[in-house]
Amino acid sequence: MTISPTEAAKSADTTSDSSSDLFCEPGDIALKSFFLGPQAENSPWVREILDDLFDAWFAWRKALYSSDGRAISERDMQTPDFMQRRETIRKQVGTLMRRLQNEVPSFSPRYIGHMVTEVSMPALIGHIVTLLYNPNNISGESSRVGILIEDEAVRDLLGMVGYSTETGSGHFTSGGTVANLEGALRARDRFAKWLAAGAISRRYNDKRLNMFDSCLMGWENYDRIRFEYQLNDDDLNPFHILKGNPVHVYRNLDQVFDMDYAGPVVLVPENKHYSWNKAVDIMGLGEEAFVGVQTDKQGRMCIPALRQTLENCRQRQRPPLMVVSVAGTTELGEMDPIHEVQAMLDEYREERGWHIWHHVDAAYGGFLCSLDMEAEVVSENMRLALGAIRRANSVTIDPHKLGYVPYASGAFLCRNRREYFYRKSIAPYINFVNVSERGPQTIEGSRSAAGAVSTWLTARTIGLNAEGYGRILERTIESRIKLEGLLRTAHPQIRIFPHAETNIITFCIARENEALGVSNARTLKVYEAFSPDENHEFYVSKTTLKRPAYDRLIDDFTQNWQAVHDTQELVLIRLTVMNPFFDTKDNLDYPGAFKEKLKEIISTRLR
Ligand SMILES: *Cc1c(COP(=O)(O)O)cnc(C)c1O
Repeated sequence: MTISPTEAAKSADTTSDSSSDLFCEPGDIALKSFFLGPQAENSPWVREILDDLFDAWFAWRKALYSSDGRAISERDMQTPDFMQRRETIRKQVGTLMRRLQNEVPSFSPRYIGHMVTEVSMPALIGHIVTLLYNPNNISGESSRVGILIEDEAVRDLLGMVGYSTETGSGHFTSGGTVANLEGALRARDRFAKWLAAGAISRRYNDKRLNMFDSCLMGWENYDRIRFEYQLNDDDLNPFHILKGNPVHVYRNLDQVFDMDYAGPVVLVPENKHYSWNKAVDIMGLGEEAFVGVQTDKQGRMCIPALRQTLENCRQRQRPPLMVVSVAGTTELGEMDPIHEVQAMLDEYREERGWHIWHHVDAAYGGFLCSLDMEAEVVSENMRLALGAIRRANSVTIDPHKLGYVPYASGAFLCRNRREYFYRKSIAPYINFVNVSERGPQTIEGSRSAAGAVSTWLTARTIGLNAEGYGRILERTIESRIKLEGLLRTAHPQIRIFPHAETNIITFCIARENEALGVSNARTLKVYEAFSPDENHEFYVSKTTLKRPAYDRLIDDFTQNWQAVHDTQELVLIRLTVMNPFFDTKDNLDYPGAFKEKLKEIISTRLR
């Protein structure tokens, strides 16, 4: 971490040696003022803000219709029945508070398990205050301010990933799963329209576009066909797989294209999150339509494999509904080469006129777009991949992961409004007064504004840029590198997956020439030793990489210790190093303590 000139001057001014105790580094100040702190260090002034929130909320009620009179009198409150009920509430709240003290302490730097950690204070405050006013962002009738804040927060995210705030759009969701589905539904809607337009042009004896090419024709062709044949929306229905009776539509398509129409495929790297299985399931495409693209030895989508898969799809006359790439894989935190995926799709568009929808699942890694791309910890692949998100059609990004925002906060973003506002189904009883209203466009109906407000307040305090979030996330990657370095030398049997890019470490415990089944069992034992019923010293998670999805990674990685392949799986312990205080110098040396704990487990428990 570099020290700014002003900071250096300050320390130079202070003659005493203790100056370094008085001033921490500027990056640390940002951090320390942004989170509550593992020991609730910031609680005094945060409590003041919370009190202010409640005071303002009470005052709001009192002031609004003040002449209406009170509904609950002092006398009511004095009645024994009332007092008793009050006592019951207090007691039950007490019970609840005691129970919640057993909750997973994900705020602690000792929690390095799943993709969750300390939430930021602005995010927490934004969340709490929204609950008090309880807007429902389904429409402007139930949310006056909430929907405007959502608009602004969406712009903040659009800006962060590099989309234009003029032409892009999006909304907040309950998480990445729903956001991914939002992307898939829009890709499918576009696909259905283009296919139908292609079919109609065939019917008019225009044979320029076959079935496959029709599905990928692009908006220009679509608009041309609609103009040439003066088609209104309903004219598409006989060939529209989402409008007409599917059995009839398929028959019509067979006839007009003179072939067996077999439906689309969805191309997803084998490192996919299981939300994609759900999306395909919900859309009723059939699991068979879900085509996995091989990963390389680093666990990233393999570009030659993607090309091969696309060519196969073409030969089998299975048009791709969408190609998905992942920024920050759930298992390893890897970046698919999004730039290379997009370059290939651009090439197909130029050379063959195929417009293929590219969705980036950046549920985990999206916030890494705030990094200083020149920073040492940013790999070449990561810089290029994150920089290419702006060229994809749509993005999933989860503020409740690397955005340090409380659940539930996910977001779906689209580069192009035409592709975002895809749906016209407007419920007759809701009055949609302006385009900020996303009700008709969202899968979810009633939606809390809390996720959007948390993100908004966070963006306006710490900033979604290299000086704000970027700095915090850069530190998490530095912490990962440091911890990885420590573990590498801690014990010869610790085998660290060598291609980590972000802030996730994975490793297993294996001996030379050992059967994978044996080392998997040992790794599991270590995981279990970290996870006793009580008193976790550290919280870790585990993952199982399976063949054939991870063939190349498993072969390449396990060859380091000449593993014998007696099973199709590789079990790994997984550490998500995203806690902002994991490597601050004032408190416990967590990286060092973790290393010692791991060594102890290996040497005492595995005899
Ligand atoms: C977490 C995650 C999801 C799902 O997001 P939820 O918010 O848990 O619904 C999807 N894709 C990736 C890559 C993820 O890491």
